[in-house]
Amino acid sequence: MSRHEEIASALTEVRVRLDAACLDAGRDSAEVTLLPVTKFFPASDVRILYDLGCREFGESREPEAGDKIAEFRSAPDVVDPVRWHMIGRLQRNKARTVARWADMVHSLDSVRLADALDVAVGVARDDGARSGPLRVLLQVSLDADPTRGGVPVAESAALADHVAGSSNLVLGGLMAVPPLGSDPDAAFARLEIAHADLLRSHPDATVLSAGMTGDLEAAVRHGSTCVRVGSAILGHRR
Ligand SMILES: *Cc1c(COP(=O)(O)O)cnc(C)c1O
Repeated sequence: MSRHEEIASALTEVRVRLDAACLDAGRDSAEVTLLPVTKFFPASDVRILYDLGCREFGESREPEAGDKIAEFRSAPDVVDPVRWHMIGRLQRNKARTVARWADMVHSLDSVRLADALDVAVGVARDDGARSGPLRVLLQVSLDADPTRGGVPVAESAALADHVAGSSNLVLGGLMAVPPLGSDPDAAFARLEIAHADLLRSHPDATVLSAGMTGDLEAAVRHGSTCVRVGSAILGHRR
């Protein structure tokens, strides 16, 4: 089987699985976006997914992402606009480069990172590297383990207000990764409550980025609007 056939069949399987999860949860599958995660995989795989109709991708690390995006874009026959999502932990010193390519950052978890991104997006807009503001999701920590990233739920309202008051960031919603070894249903249930709370003060923050290869069904049961799927589409990462 060619790589194209392999990815095409895996993508179809994931779409069938996502549709079934939506049906089970009594939700319309149009409410849940499938975001293919291409980290660790080459630009040629992104190209295959593009040829299969995908127009949004998740990446998690610099400089891997920036290099891959430049390579992908350099093909003369890639003409449709593509949106790139930064889903991984982001260091403040990478804000400048990420502001040049990201349409959305899923992993905003501190005021200091928000301020760094706000400045970086302003610079990127001034020099023409991007035209619009950056949509951001607050990554919330569901177990308050500071090593894995995420703002504690109790501190997320203050961070949301801070983002809403910035010049170049738009608050899109929430993201979370369930704690290692936890029951994803219980974790996503807490996330769903945090999202409902956020929507009361920020009604436009409708995105809930939750669910990966191993737990997308549980995430869909708890209101996910974006599942980030890597290995089920592209295979195991080294
Ligand atoms: C890598 C990654 C994913 C994709 O994980 P899979 O289990 O391969 O689907 C999703 N979200 C984040 C934040 C990631 O870093």
